[in-house]
Amino acid sequence: MIDKFDVVVIGAGAAGLFCAGQAGQLGLKVLLVDHSDKVAEKIRISGGGRCNFTNRDTTPAQFLSDNPHFCRSALSRYTPQDFIELLQRHQVPFHEKHKGQLFCDRSAEDIINLLLAECDAGQVTRWQSCGIKSVVCAEQPGATSYQIQTDRGLVEAPQVVIATGGLSIPKIGATDFGYRIAKQFGLRLIEPRAALVPLTFDGEAWAPYAQLAGLALPVLIETGLPDATPKQRKKAVVFAEDLLFTHRGLSGPAVLQISSFWREGQPVRINLAPGTDLPAMLLRAKASSKKLIANELATLVPSRLADAWVSEDPALQRPIVDATDKALQTLAQRLADWQLTPNGSEGYRKAEVTVGGVDTRDLSSQTMESKQPGLYFIGEVVDVTGWLGGYNFQWAWASGFACAQALAAKVSK
Ligand SMILES: Cc1cc2nc3c(=O)[nH]c(=O)nc-3n(C[C@H](O)[C@H](O)[C@H](O)COP(=O)(O)OP(=O)(O)OC[C@H]3O[C@@H](n4cnc5c(N)ncnc54)[C@H](O)[C@@H]3O)c2cc1C
Repeated sequence: MIDKFDVVVIGAGAAGLFCAGQAGQLGLKVLLVDHSDKVAEKIRISGGGRCNFTNRDTTPAQFLSDNPHFCRSALSRYTPQDFIELLQRHQVPFHEKHKGQLFCDRSAEDIINLLLAECDAGQVTRWQSCGIKSVVCAEQPGATSYQIQTDRGLVEAPQVVIATGGLSIPKIGATDFGYRIAKQFGLRLIEPRAALVPLTFDGEAWAPYAQLAGLALPVLIETGLPDATPKQRKKAVVFAEDLLFTHRGLSGPAVLQISSFWREGQPVRINLAPGTDLPAMLLRAKASSKKLIANELATLVPSRLADAWVSEDPALQRPIVDATDKALQTLAQRLADWQLTPNGSEGYRKAEVTVGGVDTRDLSSQTMESKQPGLYFIGEVVDVTGWLGGYNFQWAWASGFACAQALAAKVSK
C-alpha cells in the first residue's frame, strides 16, 4: 500500500520543520522525513548553543547569491518581526547581543521545541530516522505526482519540498542530496563552497603567528587583490569585527564573514589597529620615549601581537628613538594593511554554511517552486547565503514560509 500525502518535505532542519508546520496549519497533509535520528542538530549547535535565530536588521544586502535580488520577495513576506512574534506566542525568552543579532536566553532547544510544537499544531507526520532511496516523478494527464521510496516504504505526493541544507558539518548529517535531486530533474547548480569558515595558512609562513593562538582583537577586514585601485577597494566588502588567531590560521567573526567572499589565491587585507593613526602615534613616541619599539607598539595593539610582529624584523628590535622615520612608517603601514594569502579554509568540517547551491534561475522567488512542477527547494540548499549574524535562519524561515503558502494555494485550487 502506498501512503499518500499532500506534500512530502525532505529534511527536518530549520527550513523543513518551519515549512512543514506552516503547511500543516494551512490544512495540508504533510510528511516530514529526515535520515538523521536527531532533529535539527544544526539549530542545537548554532549560536554557541543559544541559536542566533534572526537579525532585526535583515535586508537582502546581507545575502550572497548569483542573483542578489532573489531573496527579496520571501524576506519581505516573512520578516524578523514575524518570527519574533512567533517566539513571543511560545513564550521563548530572548535577547539582542549586538548588531541586531537575537539569541535565546536559555538554549537553542527552545527553538527546536517551538518548531516541533508548530508541526504538532499542523498534525505533521514526522519520520526520523528514515532515509530516502529515490524520488521519481510520474507524469499523469493534467497532474504531476511524485513517488518517494523511503526506508519505511513508498509514499506518494503531488508536491515535494527539498530542505536538506548544504554540505557543512557532514558528521551531523549534511549531504549533497538536494544537489543530486536538482541535477536529476535538470536544474542548474552554482558550485558550492564552504563559507563562514576559518581560513588556514601555509605552516612555515604561519609559524611566527601560531604562538598568538587564542589572541582576539577588533579589526577591519576585506578581500581583494594587492594592486587594487582605490576605486576597486571602495567596492570591496569590509567587515569591522573581531579577529581570532588560531594554531593553523585565522578565525573569529571577522574571518568567518570575509571567508564567504574569499576565493582561492586571493589575499585578505586586515587593518590590525582600526581607528588609530599609527604613523603619527609612532613618530610622536619616537620624539619623547626611550622604550623599545615593541613596548611602544604594545600601547596601540595587544602586546603579544606587538612582540610577534617586531620579532620578525631585527631592524625593529631597538629603542624607538633609534628607528628611522621610514622604518616606523613602514611598520605602521604593514599593521594597517596586513596582506596575507590563505592556502585554504578548514572546509566543510568547520564551515557554518555553504555558499552556492540550487541555481535561483531555475526557481520562483515567489514560491520556491523549481522549473520541475511540484518540486520546491528551501533554506540553505538554495544559492542564497546569509552573512554571520542570524541571517541564515531568517532565510530558512522566510523561504519555508513562502513555500508553505504556495503549497497550500496549489492544493486549494
Ligand atoms: C556550527 C553552526 C552554527 C550556526 N549558527 C547559526 C546561527 O547562530 N544563526 C544562523 O542564522 N545560522 C547559523 N548557522 C547556519 C544555519 O544552521 C543553517 O543555515 C540552517 O540550519 C539551514 O537550514 P536548512 O533547514 O536549510 O538546513 P539544515 O538545518 O542543515 O537541515 C537539513 C536537514 O536535512 C537533513 N538531510 C540531509 N541530507 C539528507 C538526506 N540525504 N536524506 C534525508 N535528510 C537529509 C539533515 O539531517 C538536516 O536535518 C550555523 C551553522 C553551523 C554549522
